[in-house]
Amino acid sequence: RVEPHSLLLLKALTGDADPVPDLRLQEPLPGDRYLLCSDGLTEAVPDARIGGAGRVAVWATPELETAVAVTGVLLAGAAAVPLNPKSGEKELAHIVSDSAPRTVLAAPGARLPAALTGLERVDVDAAAVAPVPSAGVSDEDPALIVYTSGTTGPPKGAVLPRRALAATLDALAEAWQWTEADVLVHGLPLFHVHGLVIGVLGPLRRGGSVRHLGRFSTEGVARELADGATMLFGVPTMYHRIAEALPGDPELAKALGGARLLVSGSAALPVHDHERIAAATGRRVIERYGMTETLMNTSVRADGEPRAGTVGVPLPGVRLRLVEEDGSEITALDGETVGEIQVRGPNLFTEYLNRPDATAAAFTADGWFRTGDMAVRESDGYVRIVGRKATDLIKSGGYKIGAGEIENALLEHPGVREAAVTGEPDADLGERIVAWIVPVDPQSPPGAEELAGHVARRLAPHKRPRVVRYLDALPRNDMGKIMKRALTGA
Ligand code: ATP
Ligand code: MG
Repeated sequence: RVEPHSLLLLKALTGDADPVPDLRLQEPLPGDRYLLCSDGLTEAVPDARIGGAGRVAVWATPELETAVAVTGVLLAGAAAVPLNPKSGEKELAHIVSDSAPRTVLAAPGARLPAALTGLERVDVDAAAVAPVPSAGVSDEDPALIVYTSGTTGPPKGAVLPRRALAATLDALAEAWQWTEADVLVHGLPLFHVHGLVIGVLGPLRRGGSVRHLGRFSTEGVARELADGATMLFGVPTMYHRIAEALPGDPELAKALGGARLLVSGSAALPVHDHERIAAATGRRVIERYGMTETLMNTSVRADGEPRAGTVGVPLPGVRLRLVEEDGSEITALDGETVGEIQVRGPNLFTEYLNRPDATAAAFTADGWFRTGDMAVRESDGYVRIVGRKATDLIKSGGYKIGAGEIENALLEHPGVREAAVTGEPDADLGERIVAWIVPVDPQSPPGAEELAGHVARRLAPHKRPRVVRYLDALPRNDMGKIMKRALTGA
């Protein structure tokens, strides 16, 4: 049973002063899946457990307890610090000493590592039925402290105010025509904004529901979409697995074909996977672009034209500009001139916790957030990300070349399973293009000349890789993002 109670979360997010009515939790479903209804909230966390810093850690396993714990912390007026259960001791120790929570909320069966022994452990009772007192909070009070993925450096704690969560979820609702009739299926982790804010708080705020797979599988996606789910949110590695499974799985193709919305984000969706899914299902995946610090910035709209390799247009309320290295704004909609994406809007974080220098460096003098992502804009304003300034922009032979389009071209080669492109110092060119390839058949990988020719014919000769290195797998983090730092040793 799904009842729209978006108002409740509105209170949790923005601290509306009205008393919150009694809440009931729906029983978890048997097996590895469960249904979280919008009335599935729990007793707020008592003050004594929150502590002076006003922060409560949540051991964010992909279970109902995590959603209940985070919502409880929000309703109690504190900020939740979601912890990645797969983090190493060192990273957890850093996060706990940086964010200084007193309590950690965890599912009853969870085993907590040594790094958390200094915290009081409270087990979450997902079946508790309790009225929730309304805490007096303001829009600018922190709701979440989420640590960035650590793709380009050690993770930083982004302080996200309630206002930012509410703004981003309402903007997405508008752009995606997201209503209480929608049923979301997702299998993402719950310690990042994609899985937690968009995937759990999103349906709560809309009054719809979410079915979490516990663990992503193409079978789970097919089953839930065939059983009434309307939307799928995933990261590119999930859509890659779907694209690989589709030729042998007509049920999956049919289920995806019937979905209202297939959304990808957190990293670029390879064009090759986008096209294969479109050909097999008749549906095009739409891409949205966001960051821990900014929540969601752009998306292809539900009523817009989905196009491979683009992240659509700025969401309602978000201002976006492309900026040259000298700070001047690029106004051309030519699909060619590359600049850094800078944004402003109610969706932005307030600061990096305990990092005033990093916070100051992240904003321009006139208040725009520097995303570090490079993009071009097409004639109709669609944003096409070419890569990150730090790792994906290769300066070779006087050209600025984005790694993404070369990766897309390499992935179209039948002998290539995975590809990543980096630059390395070169006496002649400044930097030379290096392709890291996971071949389909390790016994007979496509040769360096073959791949260089393949890229040169599709893009331009100066974009061909000069060096090809073969690997068994690309280094990826928990979100499936390619860790280019691990490739280049930077
Ligand atoms: P860190 O900041 O610690 O190095 P991170 O930037 O990977 O890690 P996140 O905040 O999780 O941490 O990821 C945001 C980044 O993910 C964006 O800056 C962008 O580079 C990338 N990204 C997100 N969505 C997309 C997309 N649709 N297409 C391309 N890149 C994307
Ligand atoms: Mg980042």
